Formats: sequence, C-alpha cells, structure tokens
Amino acid sequence: MALSREKKKEYDKKIRNLPWRKEQLKKARAKYNQKHPWQEYYKKYKERIALYTEKYRERIKVGVYSYYGKGGKPVCVICGEERLDCLSLDHINDGGAQERKRTGRVGFSLYSFLRSNGYPTGYQTLCMNCQFIKERARRKRKLLRLTDEKSSNTQTYLS
Ligand SMILES: [Zn+2]
Repeated sequence: MALSREKKKEYDKKIRNLPWRKEQLKKARAKYNQKHPWQEYYKKYKERIALYTEKYRERIKVGVYSYYGKGGKPVCVICGEERLDCLSLDHINDGGAQERKRTGRVGFSLYSFLRSNGYPTGYQTLCMNCQFIKERARRKRKLLRLTDEKSSNTQTYLS
C-alpha cells in the first residue's frame, strides 16, 4: 500500500530509532558515500577547503588592488592607505551603482571578472575614506549643477 507523504514521514519518525532501522539507514548512508566520495572528502577537509578558498580569494583581491593601486602595490591611489580591509575598488568615472545593478557583480565576482578580462581601464583602488570624500564631492557637484542649470528643480532635489 502506498502511503501519503505525511503518513510516510510519520512512520519514518516512529521507526527511526529501532535497531533494525538504524542498521538499514547506516547501510544506505555507506552506500551513498561510496557513490559520492566527495561528500566524505568534503566533510573531512571542510576547514582546509574553506581556508584554501579564502586564501585563493584573498590572492585574487590583492592582485586586483595591486593592479589598480600605486606602484604595483595594493594601496589607495590618493592617500597611500595600505590596510587591505580599508581598501575598495572605485569606478573612476562613477557609475559603480549602475554597473552593479546591470551586471550583478560585487566583491569577489567583480575581482574575478576583472582579472580574467585583462584588467580593463576605468578602475582605481581607493580606501574607504577617500571613497567617502569622493562621494561627498560628487554630491556637492550634482547639487550645484542643479542649482545653476535648473533652479526650479532645486526644491525637488532638496526635499
Ligand atoms: Zn585613501
């Protein structure tokens, strides 16, 4: 007789701790692991794999920051900040938000993309402070331009 999904779940729960069922499950698991050795492998070397992945990503990141940095080093092109965690990639002609929206590339996927595409121009390494200052200047410019050209729109922009 075919059991409904809920009934089967209930039944499985009931028998799961019985010795014969435990043995059965153990055998099934062993068979599965034999068929998919990477599962066991992954479990065994989980930390090592995570560490390796992290190191790999870091290496790509440092490469990208170095290329777009100064003197082949991963430093901010404006102030020379060299602490890696403060650094970021800046779009020289702005438009970073649009690009993120269009391509969906952020963080590692962007670094990886740049690397495999021969480091296209238009980027630079900036620290967070310099990035922030640049953004403030950009907003100020935008505001001023609006005030100059379309004074009637200024109110809309400010509100
Ligand atoms: Zn800086």
